[in-house]
Amino acid sequence: MALRGGVDLGGTKIEAVVVDGRNEVLGHSRHATPTTGGPQTVADEIATALREAAAAANVDPSTLAGIGVGSPGAVDQDSGVVAQARNLPDWEGAFSLGPALTTALGPPVYLDNDVNVAVDAEFALGAGKPYSSVIGVWWGTGVGGGIIFNGKPWLGRDAAGEIGHMVVKLNGARCPCGRRGCMEAYAGRAAMEARARRLTKKGEKTDLFRIMEKRGRTRLSSGVWARALDKDDRMAVRLIDRAVAALGAGIASAVNLLDVEAVVIGGGLGTRLGQPYADRILKAMKPHLFVDGRPPAVHAAALGDLAGALGAALLVERSQKKARRTPAAPASA
Ligand SMILES: [Zn+2]
Repeated sequence: MALRGGVDLGGTKIEAVVVDGRNEVLGHSRHATPTTGGPQTVADEIATALREAAAAANVDPSTLAGIGVGSPGAVDQDSGVVAQARNLPDWEGAFSLGPALTTALGPPVYLDNDVNVAVDAEFALGAGKPYSSVIGVWWGTGVGGGIIFNGKPWLGRDAAGEIGHMVVKLNGARCPCGRRGCMEAYAGRAAMEARARRLTKKGEKTDLFRIMEKRGRTRLSSGVWARALDKDDRMAVRLIDRAVAALGAGIASAVNLLDVEAVVIGGGLGTRLGQPYADRILKAMKPHLFVDGRPPAVHAAALGDLAGALGAALLVERSQKKARRTPAAPASA
């Protein structure tokens, strides 16, 4: 069976895999996402990572059946164009990522939103596998989400699953999206870091930024938060408690609407903090659940850092099946 490539393009790292027909990983490579140089530099780095994954799997990248890419920003699946990828260097405008990668590597390239592909992977291969309806909550820099409803992704009119922007407090904290009171305004890593910086300016003490510098980071990464929590840093504990409370309210509201069987918590922070925090989120949900005797299962993501890349590889299979089902449009006269 033909091998496929999968790439998870994140704000801090690029994960590339080559998988076989049973989605077993035959080769894997991880690169830091370039912080300067614009979209073409990022595309070059993706190509290098994918070539390494292919080399580890003993195949030539040009022989792959296809390469899937999960990307942040606004993704146009038909043209392979990615725009407004604000976590990536100088990537406000549109860039033809799919065509650039096909030129560099050979095979057809399929793109989708990074959170959608990761949720698909958890549903098909990971923590969501036993269920038919699942909400995925990707707790990282922002709070993304995806919905699998009766076995199929629910995309709405194209923008469904933005669970991070469920309102948990009217006229509440300012969200990175510009609105107020969103769950992400309390739980997103970017929003939590901004608050930690404001509190520090006001004179409150924390080890968060010292841990960050010691690790050679410029941002409060998931690892920095985890370390500060291990050390019982008071500000870190307080901000994470606030995040868990917001996640509980927002996710419970989504469950009240959809009554899914399970919730999967992934993303940088979700993966790093794991099942103990998934359990805490469930506890925080309970006071808000309308039918409170029958809560959904809440699982930490099971595929870890490879969820996005595996989901991107699944995208190749799905896109090619869909293309076979859809006959080519007749040429217009
Ligand atoms: Zn928002």
